[in-house]
Amino acid sequence: MLIRFEQSVADSVLSSALSAYPNEAILLLRGKVEKEMILVNDVLIPPLATHGRGFSDFRGIMLPMDLRLVGVAHSHPSGVLRPSTHDLNHFYGRIMVITAYPYQSYSDIGVFNSHGERLPHEIVPDQNPQEDKEFL
Ligand SMILES: [Zn+2]
Repeated sequence: MLIRFEQSVADSVLSSALSAYPNEAILLLRGKVEKEMILVNDVLIPPLATHGRGFSDFRGIMLPMDLRLVGVAHSHPSGVLRPSTHDLNHFYGRIMVITAYPYQSYSDIGVFNSHGERLPHEIVPDQNPQEDKEFL
């Protein structure tokens, strides 16, 4: 399974982590799922998410019913680029994305499956137009 992030998504993940620091940032990831590939092309701020509420306070009950949700991204102000046991117990969707402090480059982003195994990912240019994103 290869994960592709549109560049604007990767940038949003890094910038939201940076602006939430020293708290955790949480973003919902939307995209398209294909056989051996997931393209993440949109991010959403989850309902009720506020700075100061970490992923540990985040509960699936707040999630909208949205078939395009492929997973959740959250930041680790500790700088540890791997999921905690708690994270894995609250795995939602197909992928878990973790951004580790200092949130400076794409190498501070890691993608994991529900077993905590790292998945390969790459950053691709944004694929406009908007109609394409709405088509599923
Ligand atoms: Zn975590």
